[in-house]
Amino acid sequence: MKQRIQWKVSMLLLVSLFLILAGCGGGTDGGSSNAGTGGGEEATALEAIKERGKLIIGVKNDTKLFGLKNTATGEIEGFDVDVAKAIAKQIFGDESKVEFKEVTSKTRIPLLQNGEIDMIVATMTITEERKQQVDFSEVYFEAGQSLLVRTDSPITGIDSLDASTKVLAVKGSTSTKNIREKAPDATVLEFENYQDAFNGLKANKGDALTTDNAILLGMQQQDPSFHLVGGNFTDEPYGIAVKKGNEALLQAVNDTLTELHSSGEYDTLYEQWFGTKPE
Ligand code: GLU
Repeated sequence: MKQRIQWKVSMLLLVSLFLILAGCGGGTDGGSSNAGTGGGEEATALEAIKERGKLIIGVKNDTKLFGLKNTATGEIEGFDVDVAKAIAKQIFGDESKVEFKEVTSKTRIPLLQNGEIDMIVATMTITEERKQQVDFSEVYFEAGQSLLVRTDSPITGIDSLDASTKVLAVKGSTSTKNIREKAPDATVLEFENYQDAFNGLKANKGDALTTDNAILLGMQQQDPSFHLVGGNFTDEPYGIAVKKGNEALLQAVNDTLTELHSSGEYDTLYEQWFGTKPE
């Protein structure tokens, strides 16, 4: 009798072990399609894009120098847009095989996750936190966070910000997080996008606008009654983001960047948009 019970318990344990192992196996498979260790899944993303005949790329529409809609032509123009066109050229041999969709700092990762866009080329800093959600290309642009103020403002840099200052920033950006850390006493007012934030600054809703120097440079060009102060207080290396596991697509992006550098096209584009050679 005792032996039979022991035998039954052993069988039960064996069956449980088998079920646990089977469960783990399923999890690993599911994970690999997300994490991108399986070759099949990645090939599918790039192949589906090729099948569709065009890329769908998320870019900013309100950010001068990177992605700004030209109201006269309806075209979106900027450094990010030109990099995006180069990726289309790499994949299709034709830079016009791309559709642009507007993203903001807040919407870009959700739009990538739900499949509405194939990639993000939108002033996006590579961070450890974001790497949990998306895969990034090599760094394609080096920015740093700074401040934009009225030319007659007493603010000279990050040290001028105190409990009496109101700083404008954009939701979902690293800028919002960084400014709370670097100027914890200042009040931070968050906007949906850079157009709204800049309009807020012009309407005196705050004393300074904070984000990457290159974005602020575009605003300074749009309205010279504002200027950048104090230099950079963070490093913001930009990367192009794809859905996790889309390795073949990411490879095509990195190949494009390598090609842009080796052909000298990168420097030409950089100079065209920023007026200087890259450092
Ligand atoms: N590069 C920063 C970021 O990724 C600020 C620019 C932006 O909001 O896109 O958050």
